[in-house]
Amino acid sequence: MRLPRFDYLEPANLEEALDLLATHGDDAKILAGGTDLLVRMKKGLLKPKNLISLKALNELSYIKEDDGYIKIGARTPLADIIASELIQNKARALFQACEEIGAITIQHYRGTIGGNILQDNRCQHYNQSNFHRSGRQACHKDGGKICYARDEGDRCYSTCQSDGATALMSLGAQITLAKKGDERTVDLADFYTTDGIMPFAMESHELLKKIAIPVHGPMQGAKSAYKRLAYRSAIDYPIVCAGVLLKPSDTQKNEIDEARIVVGSMSRSPLFLAQESSSLKGKKLDDTDAFKKAADASMNSAATFAVHNVGSTLEYRCAMVSEMVFQALKESAQAAIAAKG
Ligand SMILES: Cc1cc2nc3c(=O)[nH]c(=O)nc-3n(C[C@H](O)[C@H](O)[C@H](O)COP(=O)(O)OP(=O)(O)OC[C@H]3O[C@@H](n4cnc5c(N)ncnc54)[C@H](O)[C@@H]3O)c2cc1C
Ligand code: SF4
Repeated sequence: MRLPRFDYLEPANLEEALDLLATHGDDAKILAGGTDLLVRMKKGLLKPKNLISLKALNELSYIKEDDGYIKIGARTPLADIIASELIQNKARALFQACEEIGAITIQHYRGTIGGNILQDNRCQHYNQSNFHRSGRQACHKDGGKICYARDEGDRCYSTCQSDGATALMSLGAQITLAKKGDERTVDLADFYTTDGIMPFAMESHELLKKIAIPVHGPMQGAKSAYKRLAYRSAIDYPIVCAGVLLKPSDTQKNEIDEARIVVGSMSRSPLFLAQESSSLKGKKLDDTDAFKKAADASMNSAATFAVHNVGSTLEYRCAMVSEMVFQALKESAQAAIAAKG
């Protein structure tokens, strides 16, 4: 498989990158680590005329605590996130998620956190070679009018399998998108569309600049955990995953003040399960019956979104949602109890 022809553009700084995006937006893609983008280009799934490289943009590579947030530049390598004591201590779900990302040598040293969030949704019927796809009718994502993953599917149901996005959503992260002369900040939970062809609510001339995770104020003392299941842990994408955050009460010992349950690899975006999360408010940190009920309810909610397109059976993946959520809840509760002493 060979890469199609493209022009390689290497801006020296963010301003130049935004200028290039303003000029070439519809005909360009940002190149960060390239571990998702170049694979798709080799498979003929994408043929951008221009690649705008972030290679020289060191200003987008940092991790720091500032103004009540952990701030992470979009071009920060996954390896830096794994090595960061700040992330290990205050955003553990993200540390665990990045550590689990498959194909260590490629992902950890080339992959970036921005590319991880913005990697394209996947589907076993679509993420195949040109040769494989040429033997059958094109599906919606390939420019056709059918979907192999869902009978009568009127749109694309390809699945978001980003470990990082699932963990970050459970941490209540916000992202900042920049374009020439302007920028905006949105909750990661509000960043997704309902169409797997264009899964992100983002314009072609926008660039992901930074990620911010709240760690002070109402989030002070919150503990998080991340669990995932893959065929082969060393290389595979998750077939189901869950990120969880528990914030203990400041006044009531051992009581949960706020919970966030997010399930990944089950839909077109990570699923923030608001009802299941709020069912844990006021529950004790050692109430495993409440955790089990919330985990089973999460499984039922996630099952309504999932389609059979990332391997394994749908029944197995749904059953494992409950297990991943339950394990993550128990782990974050134990961390919260240990921190309270
Ligand atoms: C064998 C293999 C196994 C993998 N396993 C996993 C896994 O287990 N879990 C997982 O989550 N991922 C996995 N991946 C996917 C991917 O490699 C990682 O998610 C990686 O972090 C992507 O980062 P990157 O910098 O290489 O992204 P790139 O490939 O450079 O970019 C990905 C997409 O994001 C866009 N983009 C990147 N940065 C920006 C920015 N700042 N602003 C705007 N657009 C941007 C690009 O244009 C592109 O469309 C795997 C990939 C392979 C090939
Ligand atoms: S979910 Fe359907 S339309 Fe989308 S990539 Fe898969 S087969 Fe194609």
